[in-house]
Amino acid sequence: MSEIRFNCIGCGGELVAPDVLMGAEICCDNCNTKQEVIPGNTEYSFICIGCDGTLSVLRENIGGKVRCSCDTKMLVPKPGEDAIQVV
Ligand SMILES: [Zn+2]
Ligand SMILES: [Zn+2]
Repeated sequence: MSEIRFNCIGCGGELVAPDVLMGAEICCDNCNTKQEVIPGNTEYSFICIGCDGTLSVLRENIGGKVRCSCDTKMLVPKPGEDAIQVV
C-alpha cells in the first residue's frame, strides 16, 4: 500500500493518506478543512477575474500569486472560490 502526500488547501500543511482513500473526503488534522484526497501535483482550473479565461495551476500553488496573459495578477483561490486580485 502506498501513500498520497498532498498539501492542505486550508493551511498548506502536508497531509498523508493511504492511496485507498484517493478521492475520498478527509478533514485536516490542523485546520479541520474538509477536502478530497488528491495528489498535490494535480492541476485544477479556476476563472481569471480579469478576462474570465480559464487558468490551470497545480494545487500546491493555491494561495500563491499568478499572472494571467491578460496581465491581471491574483492569488490562486481554493477550489470553488473566487480569485483575489493583487497589485
Ligand atoms: Zn489544514
Ligand atoms: Zn485573464
